[in-house]
Amino acid sequence: MSKIKIGIIGYGNLGRGVQLAVKQNPDMELVGVFTRRDPSTVEVNDASVGVYLVEDVKDFQDKIDVMILCGGSAKDLPEQTPEIAQTFHTVDSFDTHALIPEFFDKVDKVAKASNKISVISVGWDPGLFSLNRLLGEVVLPEGNTYTFWGDGLSQGHSDAVRRIEGVKNAVQYTLPVKEAVERVRSGEHPTLSTREKHTRECYVVLEDGASKEQVEQQIITMPNYFADYDTTVHFITAEELQQNHSGMPHGGFVIRSGESGTHEKQLMEFSLKLESNPNFTSSVLVAYARAAYRLGQSGQSGAKTAFDIPLGLLSPKSAEQLRTELL
Ligand code: NDP
Repeated sequence: MSKIKIGIIGYGNLGRGVQLAVKQNPDMELVGVFTRRDPSTVEVNDASVGVYLVEDVKDFQDKIDVMILCGGSAKDLPEQTPEIAQTFHTVDSFDTHALIPEFFDKVDKVAKASNKISVISVGWDPGLFSLNRLLGEVVLPEGNTYTFWGDGLSQGHSDAVRRIEGVKNAVQYTLPVKEAVERVRSGEHPTLSTREKHTRECYVVLEDGASKEQVEQQIITMPNYFADYDTTVHFITAEELQQNHSGMPHGGFVIRSGESGTHEKQLMEFSLKLESNPNFTSSVLVAYARAAYRLGQSGQSGAKTAFDIPLGLLSPKSAEQLRTELL
């Protein structure tokens, strides 16, 4: 059986993760990596994988089935997904939740016109968490859904701290508030404020001569990022940061707490504890690339989210095999 041919657009954390994940899926092969940088400066850890300029993707029209887009949600994907969907089936992890409907409409028009499938906004949140929020709502229509994130490193918040004057380097972790989680798990239906759900912890390396007090004040009062949370700031050395904070862990849980017919309490919970956020996200993207390929083979086109794709299409196993082994 011929393998599904994969291309990677953008070679950052997710791009590297997709390369690893493809290796774990024998029905797929990686054909090339496409970047906006000079390809000779991008090291891919595997000499057999070609690196090309993203402008050259059209030369691969007949050589690649699905392009996995690994650019950033803020600036890259809003431009790259509609562009690439003109020529290839695509999968991306667009995670700016409020803008997903608008992004869907834009990509849908292009993908329908080109007769391609574009799977958007898959990963873990949006992605697997979205599926579990939906499941919770349909099974327990009377109830509340809670999403907690962490313990995990937030790239956006770490960047915000790094931009403060006097900060040499920093990382930020989001932590769920244990008491809030326990209240939800016990079947209470609390209304939780932002501050009651999560705390934030920053590990900061200062520039020589910078003031701890000033940097701390700037962090904890920063609007949108920290002002609405209880934030703790730890000052550490560059060596400690390197040694203890260079991973990218994340995770969290989606809880649906509801009642069935005669007021029995029912609790559904889906949880992730991830040592590497990007490598996990990439594994989800690769599974959805298989689904994109199959939907395309069946003649469908347009944008799809995790809600629109039957789970069986994510698996390399046949429907019959799935019925025998996993039902
Ligand atoms: P990165 O910042 O690592 O990479 C983004 C892009 O930046 C790359 O595609 C690459 O494009 C460019 N780049 C990477 N390294 C360099 C470098 N050294 N110099 C210059 N440019 C570089 O982002 P991530 O891979 O960590 O994340 C991508 C997006 O994934 C995030 O924005 C986030 O929104 C989303 N995400 C979604 C999740 C979900 O659950 N749905 C979970 C986790 C992330 P190029 O090669 O073209 O230069």
